[in-house]
Amino acid sequence: MNAENIIKTAGNHDFTRREFLSKSCLALPGSALALNSQKLRGQQSTESNAMPNIDPGYIGPQFFDEREEQALMEVLESRSPFRYWGQGKPTKVLRFEEKFAEYMGARFALGVTSGTAALDCAVTGLGIGPGDEVIVPAYTWWSDYTCVVHAGALPVFADIDRTLNIDPKDFERKITPRTKAVIAVHLLGTPCDMDPIMQIARKQGVAVLEDCAQCVGGTYHGKKLGSIGDVGIYSFQVNKVMTSGEGGAVVTSSPVIYERAARFHDMGTIRTLFLDRSGPSQVQTFAGENFRMNEFTGAVLGAQLSKLDIMLAKLRANANTIYDGIKKLADIRLRHRPDPEGDIGYAVFFEMRDKAARDRCIRELRQRKVPASTMTGSVLLPIAESVINKRTRHPDWPSFNSTEGKKIKYGPDSCRQTLEIFDRFVQMRVGAKYTERINNYIVDSISQVYTALA
Ligand SMILES: *Cc1c(COP(=O)(O)O)cnc(C)c1O
Repeated sequence: MNAENIIKTAGNHDFTRREFLSKSCLALPGSALALNSQKLRGQQSTESNAMPNIDPGYIGPQFFDEREEQALMEVLESRSPFRYWGQGKPTKVLRFEEKFAEYMGARFALGVTSGTAALDCAVTGLGIGPGDEVIVPAYTWWSDYTCVVHAGALPVFADIDRTLNIDPKDFERKITPRTKAVIAVHLLGTPCDMDPIMQIARKQGVAVLEDCAQCVGGTYHGKKLGSIGDVGIYSFQVNKVMTSGEGGAVVTSSPVIYERAARFHDMGTIRTLFLDRSGPSQVQTFAGENFRMNEFTGAVLGAQLSKLDIMLAKLRANANTIYDGIKKLADIRLRHRPDPEGDIGYAVFFEMRDKAARDRCIRELRQRKVPASTMTGSVLLPIAESVINKRTRHPDWPSFNSTEGKKIKYGPDSCRQTLEIFDRFVQMRVGAKYTERINNYIVDSISQVYTALA
């Protein structure tokens, strides 16, 4: 039985929502809709006495419950999966955008199909194009590089420091008269040191794009990440915290950046709902894309947003317990966190003396089933082969055909500090549903392994 039949069946018999759901589950054995089953509810409750299950898993889906279920059912029953029109009055994406902007303390939010799409919209919002340079951290996700290249601009890498985020000093060194923007990526749950970044950027007339894909809901000196620079982006892909499988958002308080981003996400045109928010149009129609969010995504994200503070409180509490437990170890060097209160607790990080010690540490921890690894989820971009060779979708693409584009050299010599830091750090993922027993087990395991290797 396919989804269409299920809806038809439901419509014909005028089932209640709950009946509809239980019938759908019968029709689709093992269906993800079976949220009532113990399987989902009691996911974490069957740990053995011998060894706690310390797989941190995907955070957002661990919090799926009746709220996502009901919101999705409302979209199905209204038969309006498209955000602008339909049989019912679609409101899921609209409301999610309003709530998300409010949560982030910004004037506007735009829902899009992915974090990568959000970056393309933000870069368009800032008016970045051929001849411009954009400063990007040397260790981050591909999209921070591709969004610059797709705009025809030139990516210039800056090293990371012991925050594991962009080094403000190297950002400043990399500024030229052509620098249009910097992408401050709040990587792996910890905010960038935004005060120096904003000071340097404002002094030099460089725009600040905050990539909050890995730090949704994080703060810096009390301000939500994404609301500090000129524009912020988020991803709701499953590896992030709140999730709809795929999805993204752009946040800004600038009406012009908002209008440009909204136009780019919808073929270059603009709908009144966006102008109702940002005021009379200030931008002419230009060639855009289709990055529109659908109502199912908006429904799940609305439900997930209402639980974000709970997810973050749990992650933070567990991360703080582990950090507090290991910071007593002699001479241990933890990740430098410019504002620990704003950290979302996605993982815990500490530094070993060299790569060999780091690798042994990870091996020993993994033997104890502790989820330790090198830094994950991103790429050492300047040493990626396609970056070194400046390969683009067409050989005449403008990014690397300017005088500066031809001159720039990537490769290991362009990011020595990043490579050294990367090689020394151990990452230990934190689960939202870790128990006290798991936290203690992790602290004990790190203490034993670290002490033996230090
Ligand atoms: C995941 C991620 C993105 C891209 O988001 P998608 O939704 O996967 O397109 C961008 N930047 C960073 C730092 C990310 O981690």
